[in-house]
Amino acid sequence: MKSIFRTAFIFMLTILMVACSHTDHQAEQTMTDHRPEQDVPPPSVKDTRPAVVIDPGHGGEETGAIGWHTGVPEKQITLAIAGYCRDYLRQQNIRVIMTRSSDRMMNAESKDHDLHDRAQLADKVEADLFVSIHADQYDETVHGSKVFYSEINPYTDQSQELAGYVFDELIGELGSRPLGVFMEDFIVLRENSVPAILVETGFVSHREEEQKLITPSYQKKAGMAIAKGIMAYLKHEGLLKPESEKSKDVH
Ligand SMILES: [Zn+2]
Repeated sequence: MKSIFRTAFIFMLTILMVACSHTDHQAEQTMTDHRPEQDVPPPSVKDTRPAVVIDPGHGGEETGAIGWHTGVPEKQITLAIAGYCRDYLRQQNIRVIMTRSSDRMMNAESKDHDLHDRAQLADKVEADLFVSIHADQYDETVHGSKVFYSEINPYTDQSQELAGYVFDELIGELGSRPLGVFMEDFIVLRENSVPAILVETGFVSHREEEQKLITPSYQKKAGMAIAKGIMAYLKHEGLLKPESEKSKDVH
């Protein structure tokens, strides 16, 4: 008698399992059939391109140095150079985030707040590196280009390396006097959480260099040189994927 029950039980169980698996399959099939194929992108696809924060120095009330002979403020020169740098990098399929893209401070509350916010942007947007662009002033005899990195930045070695690549490109492209790569703990460098450098493209206190710095063709050369230095660093660090180098029309 027991074995009849057992056989009946196994039989029922088998029917139930077949029915369930059929229902599951049907449900899955229905879901698959109704899923849109093209219009909805896969959820939260992470942008895996290398990402760079470009910081045009100063802005708004913070004019930076004022050109000694032309009166053109540094903030205007840095924004122009940064724009060329951004455009070139985007053509290379690099994700570029600007601390500002118009004549304003990033945080108008105070200069300190402004600099802190600039330094923290790279962390917020998960960038790979940070480059601040400036034009120096000293006296009428000094001219040339130099690049700074910070010893307090958590990536001092990488920052120094990045500084070297950008410096070499800048000197090569502009033909400016090679002043060198220096260590200096500027806020935007030391408070950054990624490799960070500050580029002094030239001096607005030097008559000839100031004239060059306010000229669009020179600004473009400077922007592209900085971008090429960044690309060389990214390549050296293995952050450039082969497709990043090839697909130049994706923005
Ligand atoms: Zn400056």
